[in-house]
Amino acid sequence: MAEIGFVGLGNMGLPMAKNLAAAGHNVAGFDHVDAAMRELGTASGTAANDIAAAVSQAEIIVTMLPAGRHVEEVYLGDAGVLASAKAGALLIDSSTIDVDTARRVSGAALNAGFDMVDAPVSGGVGGASAGTLTFMVGGSDAAYRQAQPVLEVMGKNIFHAGASGNGQVAKICNNMLLGISMIGTCEAFMLGEKLGLDAQTFFDISSTASGQCWSMTSYCPMPGPVPASPANNDYQAGFTAAMMLKDLVLSQEAAQTATCETPMGARATSLYQQMSEAGADGLDFSGIMRMLQGEI
Ligand code: NAD
Repeated sequence: MAEIGFVGLGNMGLPMAKNLAAAGHNVAGFDHVDAAMRELGTASGTAANDIAAAVSQAEIIVTMLPAGRHVEEVYLGDAGVLASAKAGALLIDSSTIDVDTARRVSGAALNAGFDMVDAPVSGGVGGASAGTLTFMVGGSDAAYRQAQPVLEVMGKNIFHAGASGNGQVAKICNNMLLGISMIGTCEAFMLGEKLGLDAQTFFDISSTASGQCWSMTSYCPMPGPVPASPANNDYQAGFTAAMMLKDLVLSQEAAQTATCETPMGARATSLYQQMSEAGADGLDFSGIMRMLQGEI
């Protein structure tokens, strides 16, 4: 069993850390939020006083933070991970952040003598609690192999996406496609209905024809055809429109850096931006159906 330091015990990090502790690892966690620290304590983890205390004895350090600036601060700060970790510790950042920051921080880690992988996830809070997350990992082969057994405690599908930063690339490209396909699915259902086609009938046809996609068959934005989808629960999240917008903005920043035209990604970003400006970004991202229908 490993000594694990865990920084960032929010909606995702806390259940991930609890799963590591439940698997028998010694988990020392740190977050600014006291309630999260207390909950880790009741789940046989240890609440540490600061980042240094959480990571100084760890063989493996996992972070789950909101954005690139938090990752930079936690790793590169004066009493941060690089300054406090012991030699040989493996660093795993599971936050969803911009590709440039991921590569810069892992470069700094390498210069300081640490192997680091970026390992963003998909699967949401439900997947974090159930230990069924998908991890998209960027880093060297050796670092990936070392990270794999720990990631397998928190997830079901673990993919090596290539060199440092490629986990983030896979994540934002996947979510850019998801945002686009969700909007396209909404538009198809809306147009069909306006032209007199019953939603269930369209679903039965399109879900077995070439329009089929995950946004339709697993997460249908039209109430009815997929009973478990948020559309049947007043579009309660789920995966919020705010989180979709975050990932789309990351995709557009990366597209600009890579001088790659992504016109559909850009349009999806501006539509989710509009939903956010309308104060509706706490809804599930499939709730963009309501905006397209003129209800927001
Ligand atoms: P969250 O805001 O609930 O949790 C982040 C935690 O980090 C907070 O508890 C915060 O206090 C802590 N934190 C910030 N700065 C810190 C610091 N300097 N030291 C210690 N703790 C610090 O966010 P979340 O929903 O858990 O998401 C975390 C990451 O996972 C994000 O990058 C998000 O994009 C990604 N993600 C989230 C979901 C989801 O469904 N929530 C799904 C996939 C990926």
